[in-house]
Amino acid sequence: MPELPEVEITARRLDAALAGAKVESALAPGMNVMKTFEPPLDALAGRGLTAVRRIGKMPVVEFGDLALLIHLMSAGRLRLFEKRASPKDRASRVLVRLADGRELRLREFGTKQRAWAKLLSADAVEEDEAVARLGPEAWPAPPLDVFTAVIAQPRHLHPLLRHQGDIAGIGRSWVDEILWEAKLSPFKKGSELNAEEVEGLHAALHVLSDAIEHYERTLGGQLPDKIPMPLQVHKREGQPCPRCGTTIEAVFFSEHQTNYCPAEQTGGRVLKDRRLSKLLK
Ligand SMILES: [Zn+2]
Repeated sequence: MPELPEVEITARRLDAALAGAKVESALAPGMNVMKTFEPPLDALAGRGLTAVRRIGKMPVVEFGDLALLIHLMSAGRLRLFEKRASPKDRASRVLVRLADGRELRLREFGTKQRAWAKLLSADAVEEDEAVARLGPEAWPAPPLDVFTAVIAQPRHLHPLLRHQGDIAGIGRSWVDEILWEAKLSPFKKGSELNAEEVEGLHAALHVLSDAIEHYERTLGGQLPDKIPMPLQVHKREGQPCPRCGTTIEAVFFSEHQTNYCPAEQTGGRVLKDRRLSKLLK
């Protein structure tokens, strides 16, 4: 699932490749993908693509005074292709065909159709409910006092940091990395942290900028569907903690997992009980 660093590098690469490109036509083979109907998607025909940027985990593709706000959900990907999609490509959700033959394609893998897009007036993007409800961006990190107010809630850190309404951009992968970096238990409550721990958690947000810099260094202009993520603990159960060598543990849930170093994050306790999943909802 693309999170802030992956969507940021995607937006940067697409912006560099696409700014100035002219749209020939746009269509939505995904039956339910468009959440807006006015203006229609074909209003993009003849326009120039002016910028690609990111809000939280959402890419925004701008065409002058119109903007396509996209939510990738868990399985959506936004990629540029040199040629047009086959009509048989069942993963296609939105196709923006460019006059030079290239195609910007929103695709979604798997059977569920959950990714969505909205074509909005560019100045209405910030007011859209999906944007207006977001907390401050996790990168660049918010000021410490803003972050302290976000964290001061009697909720477990794992769901709290992933809740886009509290802080935007962090998902299931990077939350594990941030908590490991801060040496905090995913099961600790935000309101239980002392000032030093809040500062440490705030400082740990640098893993997001580190990831973006890593992608800048290692990825070329064309990004793969699955960006190789520089993760240290997420999905690394059974491997030694890169910092202290203790075996990384996992708690499994129905659709996801959280990983942590018991020596450094949970006072040596190994939390494998599936009933804990109820705590993390
Ligand atoms: Zn460790």
